[in-house]
Amino acid sequence: MSTTPIIGHYLDGHVQDAGSERLREVFNPATGSVQAHVALASQQTVDAAVASALKAFPAWAEQSSLRRARVMFKFKQLLDEHHDALAQIICREHGKVFSDAKGEVTRGIEIVEYACGAPTLLKTDFSDNIGGGIDNWNLRQPLGVCAGVTPFNFPVMVPLWMIPLALVTGNCFILKPSERDPSASLLMARLLTEAGLPDGVFNVVQGDKSAVDALLQHPDIEAISFVGSTPIAEYIYQQGTARGKRVQALGGAKNHMIVMPDADLDQAADALMGAAYGSAGERCMAISVAVAVGEVADQLIEKLLPRIDRLKVGNGLHPESEMGPLVTAEHKAKVIGFIDQGVAQGAHLIVDGRGLEVPGAERGFFVGATLFDRVTPAMSIYQQEIFGPVLGIVRVPDFASAVALINAHEFGNGVSCFTRDGGVARAFARTIKVGMVGINVPIPVPMAWHSFGGWKRSLFGDHHAYGEEGIRFYSRYKSVMQRWPDSIAKGAEFSMPTAK
Ligand code: NAD
Repeated sequence: MSTTPIIGHYLDGHVQDAGSERLREVFNPATGSVQAHVALASQQTVDAAVASALKAFPAWAEQSSLRRARVMFKFKQLLDEHHDALAQIICREHGKVFSDAKGEVTRGIEIVEYACGAPTLLKTDFSDNIGGGIDNWNLRQPLGVCAGVTPFNFPVMVPLWMIPLALVTGNCFILKPSERDPSASLLMARLLTEAGLPDGVFNVVQGDKSAVDALLQHPDIEAISFVGSTPIAEYIYQQGTARGKRVQALGGAKNHMIVMPDADLDQAADALMGAAYGSAGERCMAISVAVAVGEVADQLIEKLLPRIDRLKVGNGLHPESEMGPLVTAEHKAKVIGFIDQGVAQGAHLIVDGRGLEVPGAERGFFVGATLFDRVTPAMSIYQQEIFGPVLGIVRVPDFASAVALINAHEFGNGVSCFTRDGGVARAFARTIKVGMVGINVPIPVPMAWHSFGGWKRSLFGDHHAYGEEGIRFYSRYKSVMQRWPDSIAKGAEFSMPTAK
C-alpha cells in the first residue's frame, strides 16, 4: 500500500477517504516523482454524492439570490486569501510556472466576482397588462443537481467557470476534476464550506471514466458541463443528451495566429512566444500555428530564434522559470511522437525540443520549445491538437488564403490576427469561423461577463461557458401569465387568446 497521501472526495461538507476504491498516481511533473495517489470513485461514491446534493437542493433553491450571492462574496475573499496556496498546488501537480498559476486563479476569481451579482443576473422581464388584465413575466429557476467534468490544464480556473454560476442560480453541483491534478478541488470545496455554503450543495468526486459514466447515467443529474478533449466532449454530449440532460461540452483546439506583412513583428514574435510556449502549450487557447502571410515568414523566424534561445525552462516553482514541464510522462511521449511525425512528414524542424534536459530535474517531463517551418495542412502536426510547446509555421500568399485555411480546420476555439490595417482586422473578425477572436491579442480569453466558447468541433451544445450564457445554461426559463378574478371576462373562450 502507498505511503504517499491519498486524495479523497468531498461529500456533505467533509473530505471522504478512498476506502477500498482504486487509486491512481499523481505526479510532480517537474521531478517525475509520485507525490500522492487519488481515489477513483466507485458507483457507490457517485450515488452518495448525488444523494447528498439532492437532499440539499430544495433548501438551497429556496434561498434568495441575495443570500446565495453573499456566499460568493465570502468565497471570493477566501480565494484571495488562499491565492498563493492554490497557485502552488497547481504548480506542483500541473507543472506550470507560478506567475501563470496565479493568473489562472485570478481568472477563476473573476467568475466568482461576476456571480456576486446574482440578484441582478437573475432579474427578468415583466410586461404589464398584455391584455384583458393579464400580466406576463419570466422566471429563471434552477435545474437541480448539475455536474462538471474538468480537464487537467486549468485545475482551478475551469471548475470556477462552472461552480459559481451553477450555485448562485440555485443548483447543487458535483465536480469531477481531472485525476491528474485533483488537489485544488478539495481546497476550493473547503473554502466554499467556510464561506457558508450548506453541506451537500457542492460535492467533489475524484475519478476517471467510471465516475464520469456513473454521472452520465445517473437519472438525477439534470445537466453536465464538460471541458476537455474533443473525442470525450463529443461522447459526453451524445451520452448526456441521449438521457435528456442539458449538456455543454467544450473540446479541443488548434489555434492559429495570422501575421500580416504590415504587423509589428517584434510584437507578433513576443505574442507567439507567450501563446505557443506559455504553460508548455497546454492551453486550449495556445497558438500552435503561425500563418505567415506573403514574405513575412523568414523575418518572423529571425525574430523568434533568439527569443526561443533565451526561454528559461525549469521547475514552475522556481521564480526564474518561464516554461515548465508537461503534465505526465505519457503526455511527454505523445508530444515527442508528434515532433517525430512532423519530421517524417517533411516539415522543416528549426528548433528541436526533444532531448532537453533540465539540470537537477532530469526525470521531469520536460520538452523544450519546438519550431517547425513549412508545415502544410496535410500533416498531422497541422491537423491535430498537440498540446505541447510546438509551434508550426504555415506560409500562405495572402489574407484570403489565411482565412480560408483557418475556416477549413475542424476546430474553431481561438484565433488571432496581427496587423495594422483596420479593414483587414474588421474583415477578419467578421468572416473567421472561430468563437474567440483576437486582433493584436494572442490569447483572446473573454472576461467573466462575456462568455467563453469555440465553434465547430471545439464545442458541443448550445451555450458557451460563464457570463450570460452560463446563467442561461444553469437556469430553466419559465413564463408566467396571471390575472385576478375581478378582471376575468365572463364566459369560456374557444379561440386563441390575443391581446385585447
Ligand atoms: P481529457 O478529455 O482527457 O479529460 C477531461 C476530463 O474527462 C477529465 O476529468 C477526465 O477524467 C475525463 N475523461 C477522460 N477520458 C474519459 C473517458 N474516456 N470517458 C469519460 N471521461 C473521460 O482532457 P485533458 O487531457 O484533461 O485536457 C486537455 C484537453 O482539454 C485539450 O484537448 C484541451 O484543448 C481541452 N480544453 C478545452 C478547453 C475549452 O474551453 N475548449 C479548455 C481547457 C482544456
